[in-house]
Amino acid sequence: MAIVSTAVRRDRRWWQAGALLVWLLIDLGLGIWEMGGWKGFAPALKPPAVGGWGQPAADLVTWINAFGMLTGMAWPLLFAGLSMGTLVFLRWRKERTRYLRIRLGLAVLAYFGLTAAIPFVGSSFPVVPNPGGTGLPTWNWPTGLSMLGFVLLALLFGRGSYCGVICPAATYWGGLGQHFIPANINTPRARRLAAGLRALMVGLFVLTALLSIADTLLHWHVSVYGTDPAVFFSGVTWMVIWFLMLLVVPFLGNRAFTRFLCPMGATMGWVAQHGVWEIQAIDPAVCASCTDQACTRSCEVSLPVGRHLAEAGRYRSAACVGCGNCQAACPSQNIHYRTALDWVLPRSTRQPAPVAPGLPQ
Ligand code: SF4
Ligand code: SF4
Repeated sequence: MAIVSTAVRRDRRWWQAGALLVWLLIDLGLGIWEMGGWKGFAPALKPPAVGGWGQPAADLVTWINAFGMLTGMAWPLLFAGLSMGTLVFLRWRKERTRYLRIRLGLAVLAYFGLTAAIPFVGSSFPVVPNPGGTGLPTWNWPTGLSMLGFVLLALLFGRGSYCGVICPAATYWGGLGQHFIPANINTPRARRLAAGLRALMVGLFVLTALLSIADTLLHWHVSVYGTDPAVFFSGVTWMVIWFLMLLVVPFLGNRAFTRFLCPMGATMGWVAQHGVWEIQAIDPAVCASCTDQACTRSCEVSLPVGRHLAEAGRYRSAACVGCGNCQAACPSQNIHYRTALDWVLPRSTRQPAPVAPGLPQ
């Protein structure tokens, strides 16, 4: 697997961030063009006149909504998908593991089938990859069932079925992000900070969803300057912060949003921990004597997968996004991903070794 082995050089980081900024500005420019130029877009920047201390907050909410409106439009999403999808395609041609090739192919299909298609088909689309995006009370049976389907997939195939396929992050980071894995911030303090931030985001995710439902069913009249709380949280998270976090990737590393902020990923990780997905060492002794640790070095979210495989023969983490890098990178081909497919497909001739007594199951 093509993992960049040299560390991302400090002097290049500002250039890389600048290139990403240009990419984002092109994206936003396409959105403005799609809205009919500045004349069509300018009204979206006009805040409600609330006066007094509330006015700066109303201004901020208006700008946030306008930014999110641009990144959620059809042409910006197509441009992002085509540019990032091309990187995925270039990588896909070099990948040799079946898991990675299938996952990357599905990710690009899901991007154009779910994310980029939504602006064309509107809220009538019965699949919701971005919970809260349409306002929870407007959900109908098909949209609710689509979320239940994502949960079921996470139970059967791990968090990777969402974070590695359905989420647009799978396409963005499947191509672009691999270069930045060596820059991943992974100190104990960063991990504690990430855990705290994710807990905060999950709390806000649940709170705004409940407020949104209460507003509709109980007529609480809760809104963020006229915007449904769940829609606003969803917009801020996935249409604004998500894109702004792209700019700091040269400094924070690959999948910075996933690792530090994503409430959906954290929720799916929790679900997946109670499911079937597990990483297994075919022979734990091989990992125990491995000095290479290519699996750990290649991990999109910097998990110590090699150490756990050496110690326990298997690994399951709520943070694993199922990217497939560890399996592809292992020089001994010593990793097996257990999924629900193991129930129906013949196993490979190289089976995971039985776990030694006393080791965690
Ligand atoms: S999975 Fe492969 S690269 Fe990772 S520790 Fe085991 S043998 Fe080494
Ligand atoms: S543990 Fe393996 S599959 Fe999971 S995120 Fe890391 S590299 Fe990807």
